[in-house]
Amino acid sequence: MVLWVLFLCCFVKESLSLQVYEKSKEEALSFMENAGEKYKIELIQELNDAEQISFYKQGEYEEFCAGPHISNVCQIKAVKLLSVAGAYWRGNEKNQMLTRIYGISFPKVSQLEEYLHMVEEIKARDHRKLGKELGIFTIFNEGPGLPVFLPKGMILKNLLIDYWRKIHCRDGYVEISTPIMLERSLWETSGHWDFYRDSMYSLKVEDDDYAIKPMSCPGGMLVYKLAPRSYKELPMRIGELGLVHRNEKSGTLHGLMRVRSFTQDDAHIFMREDQVMDEIQGVMRLIDEVYQKFGFSYEIELSTRPEHSIGSDEDWQLATEALEKAVQGMDKPYVINEGDGAFYGPKLDFHIKDSIGRTWQCGTIQLDFQLPQRFDIDFIGANGEKHRPIMLHRVVFGSIERFIGILLEHYAGKFPAWIAPVQIKVLPVSDKYND
Ligand code: ZN
Repeated sequence: MVLWVLFLCCFVKESLSLQVYEKSKEEALSFMENAGEKYKIELIQELNDAEQISFYKQGEYEEFCAGPHISNVCQIKAVKLLSVAGAYWRGNEKNQMLTRIYGISFPKVSQLEEYLHMVEEIKARDHRKLGKELGIFTIFNEGPGLPVFLPKGMILKNLLIDYWRKIHCRDGYVEISTPIMLERSLWETSGHWDFYRDSMYSLKVEDDDYAIKPMSCPGGMLVYKLAPRSYKELPMRIGELGLVHRNEKSGTLHGLMRVRSFTQDDAHIFMREDQVMDEIQGVMRLIDEVYQKFGFSYEIELSTRPEHSIGSDEDWQLATEALEKAVQGMDKPYVINEGDGAFYGPKLDFHIKDSIGRTWQCGTIQLDFQLPQRFDIDFIGANGEKHRPIMLHRVVFGSIERFIGILLEHYAGKFPAWIAPVQIKVLPVSDKYND
């Protein structure tokens, strides 16, 4: 290690600048053949569409890389080797084991120190470690990605839910509970079967295809359709703490942060066109209230139409503009996140900032013109005619499980008294210490 750092210091003193240039694919391959670099040859051969391969050069050393790089090695002022690990080539155990060296550098020593402090903080606050120590949750080997709440975790989860119910009831929401699995035809109507099937679990019930719900929306649509609706009933705010399942790859699972089943604090708001602005802003105020309660600051992103989506350009434009106008009306700063909307509509995403400065996406407000059309829902207007309502999908916590993971790390396990599963402990002291 010491030798390596000494070598690096000499190397930095040379102040070599980095040049970027291109080689044709044949030149790149023959360069790597001469250098005996069999793995790099493999990588270059796989770049099917590339005719030119970008290379970087510093001093005598040449390497192919997509970049970007710093312009001169003298910018490297503070370096730390973090770890060394064995890794099979391409993650396949049948391949040869290579050594992967992890390191980081900063232009200032103070930045490196700050970073290392942050790494220590993150380790100490890891919700998987704290969750185990505090008896909050576990995950069985028999159910990867399927969180299990222990008695103290249930106290915390129920307190969050009680709080959620209290403020939603105050704001005129009603609550429903729809089935965890429903027939394929419903998912075809909602578009999930075509646009979201890879993320859903499906099964056979007798001879019929069913899917376990990845979202509660389609069930909520059927509830709206149960009775004729009048313009006087709108806005209708229908909440559901739905247990949803999503097919996440095992390699991506992470404690409570990335799971295969979670409780989504969903609600659907059915409204008239003249109510859109008030409803969006009402949800924004509710989200603001909840995040402030936990001491989170937050940032807002407006996510626009993704490539894989349903609906006309006109509807998308209307919906995107309505969301934008609502945020501007609240005087809140926001940034545009191009192409990251839901498949049925654009959305406002709320990214909270925890006590050590990390951001987590939690709340969303999604404006949807599509599902009301697909489910053919309506209301009778003041003129006695049928109209199509517009709907909002929205969550505040996002996933209650994930929110608990974030709270564990945000408070480092030291919860405020109102949600602490253990608020006080009495320690008996023997009489002999009584003076
Ligand atoms: Zn929804």
